[in-house]
Amino acid sequence: MRIVDAHCHLDRRELLDELDSVLREADDAGVVAMVTASVEPHLWTLTRDLAAGRTNVLFSIGMHPWIASPLEPRYLDILTKARDFGAAAIGEIGLDRMIDSPSLEEQVPIFETQLAVARETNMPVVIHVRRAFGELHRSLKRVGLPAAGGYIHNFTGSAELARDLSRFGLCFSMGGVLTYGRNGRRDALVRYVYPDRLLLETDAPDILPLPHRGVPNRPAYIVHALHAASEILGVPEEEVAKYTTRNACRVLGLVL
Ligand SMILES: [Zn+2]
Repeated sequence: MRIVDAHCHLDRRELLDELDSVLREADDAGVVAMVTASVEPHLWTLTRDLAAGRTNVLFSIGMHPWIASPLEPRYLDILTKARDFGAAAIGEIGLDRMIDSPSLEEQVPIFETQLAVARETNMPVVIHVRRAFGELHRSLKRVGLPAAGGYIHNFTGSAELARDLSRFGLCFSMGGVLTYGRNGRRDALVRYVYPDRLLLETDAPDILPLPHRGVPNRPAYIVHALHAASEILGVPEEEVAKYTTRNACRVLGLVL
């Protein structure tokens, strides 16, 4: 089995402190590549160093909507040269209505600046969005998506929303929420985006999948998302792994 964890945060303390065992377990679980998202500019270099020499660790750089503020010129400069910096994608960037500060109005220009850089440099994007799909749609219309495409991570919208957003070329990444029991709306979404637009992720150390409880999530636990997706789709795990890995490779320009 060859699985790609399209979104995790290896630079978070819970994982960084045990990085070697985290990566070994991922390898044992069949995770052939992980995309660790570096979401605070002052941590971009740490993430690049962490990924250096590890061919199975890709990284994305961006400013998360939770800390959205105008990018300092030195960081904007790195972002415009993200590929030379070694990044595989720009993200996670996005829009989040479920936080008080920064406001959505403050987040929009920061998101659009980063989206525009991704488009100009044709870097795939990793997007975080909660309860702001209308705004996302408007930003995508205003700025556009890079030809390289991108994906919304931990996508929890409906199949209709996925249809609307897939017109821009977006894919949809899912993880722990797949394991949280049956849910007709979510299952319809999974069936809609499979096989061509579904990616798997953990968002480790967050969004712990069942049956784990009370521990940090880790990329190896992606097997639970894979198992759940296979049950929802009624398709063997090997097949779900094959297509979701193929999709991740396509979007990230990754050759495995
Ligand atoms: Zn994340």
